[in-house]
Amino acid sequence: MPKVAQVEPITTARVLRGPFDYSCPEGAEVGSVLIVPFGGRDLLAVVTALKDSSEHELSEPKQLLPASLPLDLVALGPWLADEYCSTPARAYSLMLPPRGVKERSALYASQLREPDEGERLTDNQRQLLGTLPRLAGADVAALRRLEKRGLVQLDEQSQRRAPRHAEVGKASGKSGPPLTADQAAALEQLLAASPGEQLLLHGVTGSGKTEVYLRAAAEVLAASRTVLVLVPEIALTPQIISRFIERFGETVAVIHSKLTPGERFDEWMRLRSGEARICIGARSAVFAPLSEIGLIIVDEEHDSSYKNEGDPRYDARHVAERRAADHGAVLVAGSATPRAESWHRLRRLSLPNRVDQLPLPEVEIIDLRGAPGSLHPATFQALVDSRKSIVLLNRRGWSNYLSCSSCGYAWECPQCDVTLVLHRASGSISCHHCGHRERVPERCAECGSVSIARHGTGTERLETELPGKVFRLDGDATDAGAVLRAFEQADQGILLGTQVVAKGHDFPDVELGVVVDADQTLRFPDFRAEERTFSLVTQLAGRSGRGSERGRVIVQSLTPDAPALVLAAAHDAPTFLEEELARREALRYPPFSTLIRIVCASPQPGAADEAASELQAALPGSLGPAPLFRLRGRERSQVVIKAEDRHAAVEAVNAAVGRVAKGAGRKSVAISVDVEPQ
Ligand code: ADP
Ligand code: ZN
Ligand code: ZN
Repeated sequence: MPKVAQVEPITTARVLRGPFDYSCPEGAEVGSVLIVPFGGRDLLAVVTALKDSSEHELSEPKQLLPASLPLDLVALGPWLADEYCSTPARAYSLMLPPRGVKERSALYASQLREPDEGERLTDNQRQLLGTLPRLAGADVAALRRLEKRGLVQLDEQSQRRAPRHAEVGKASGKSGPPLTADQAAALEQLLAASPGEQLLLHGVTGSGKTEVYLRAAAEVLAASRTVLVLVPEIALTPQIISRFIERFGETVAVIHSKLTPGERFDEWMRLRSGEARICIGARSAVFAPLSEIGLIIVDEEHDSSYKNEGDPRYDARHVAERRAADHGAVLVAGSATPRAESWHRLRRLSLPNRVDQLPLPEVEIIDLRGAPGSLHPATFQALVDSRKSIVLLNRRGWSNYLSCSSCGYAWECPQCDVTLVLHRASGSISCHHCGHRERVPERCAECGSVSIARHGTGTERLETELPGKVFRLDGDATDAGAVLRAFEQADQGILLGTQVVAKGHDFPDVELGVVVDADQTLRFPDFRAEERTFSLVTQLAGRSGRGSERGRVIVQSLTPDAPALVLAAAHDAPTFLEEELARREALRYPPFSTLIRIVCASPQPGAADEAASELQAALPGSLGPAPLFRLRGRERSQVVIKAEDRHAAVEAVNAAVGRVAKGAGRKSVAISVDVEPQ
């Protein structure tokens, strides 16, 4: 038996890099999870290797936990740390089941023998015997007495805490509709793909991608392998989950951030033990402890929620590729609006038509130049004429900002260099970055004037300008699912909201989609602005006309000739993507390079910029330092690298960040690194 366990204690500290040696508890293996004493605290720790001796004095782990990581995830930890400039410990913290949770079990009572004649039993005991077998429930003590007399047997059985977000149930036994010719062709190519191959399923909205996933999953299960299905935020994509559960029943485990720790633990254990063989979930499900994965599906692969915003800033799509390679699984990324990266790199399968054979919606671009308000009269009329519509405006609140009409003073956040947004219903102006709130001012803080102008229109204000009943869905609404259900059940009305309204919902009777301000996403200072705009318009188009009527989409813009809009209106993703790729190649943007973004932040005036300058100087070819707006009271400055060689660049960045962070006066500076920022 090995004497030494090398472990990686789970801590967020960057400077403490394992592995560390501990004595090896009996039964521990690579992947085992321990509780170890570390720096005066007890920490969870993952065993990453075993050996026979150590030159250090060894401490004893306090406990060996029943859950263990599969070997491929143990290897994934250091890889993830390297890819995203993080640490193995932070990577493992994404993979482990929640701490301090145990399996929930219940006592089941079954009868062992009939009472002998004349055996003395109370009425209560006789009554209990008559109801067996059953869950012990409140009668544990009484049943224990019967157990002592050998009449009853009590067994502990584990009980699954069912996730409340998805119905849990038996498979319906239905095998789904016969495939269309396009679906059958895509499925055939998918099943013929070689192990580790990556495919792009480009299917227009309503082309039946999900049915292809379901059939492929069935084949993979039949071949004794498992399936991982990644979807954008779960609350917004209940349909795909319920279709998997309906088809495959209890072999489906659902993992996402809204589960309670107990539910998450149970789903994790069901996957680890092999009891569940399909895992469906949002971003973090990419770390599901499945073994022998045969198929990984990334649905709506263009969705930005696949990127994690905290350290490690991993991209679940990239991790999925690595896991597919490790397992020899086929990876399928599906979308109506794939990313330029995927279009470039993956072999394409296509579903060019809607299942129902309806034509794609008609998309009209309306020139907003010279229009009086935020809605063009033609848009307003179209809303009046449609029973059900979806209206997209990517701005919450009533107005973007307030300014004094006399002296020009504008209300800004004291912590961040951004204007405060008016929320009329709550009587406040608030910062959308840090949450700072103030009461709506009655007079100017500078000159005392009472003449205050409100600029721009957000969803709260637009709601009052729309004809008919409005269902507002934005960050201000607490329960997105409830708003969506209410809209779905309504006979008529308008679903108004920020970009969440364009995501994969399937409402059969929406006739019209409106993008109120297409320039807002187009003008966004990011090389992906065009791609995002194209995707937004196309996805919104996909939400309308799913019933019997042909749908219609109106896009309002001050730049009606922008290629992203014109090509989206023509439903021409291939041309858009080819042009986009040519542009990116010329400018050396991804996929023709790897971007790395380093942000320095400090409350000390000048400190962030100084650190960023030093980083820029240390990294040849890097761009910056560029000041960012102050956030939460901290000045920020960024440096960007366009790298040919991702690994060399990540190493160089790690080294430079390490040096700069140690420099004099750097205590106040937080440095974060984002590889492939979105
Ligand atoms: P996508 O994910 O590509 O937008 P879906 O998979 O949601 O499309 O399919 C759209 C609709 O068509 C769904 O209601 C689905 O049940 C139905 N559908 C899919 N494939 C078929 C088929 N072969 N025959 C009949 N209906 C189908
Ligand atoms: Zn003023
Ligand atoms: Zn703020």
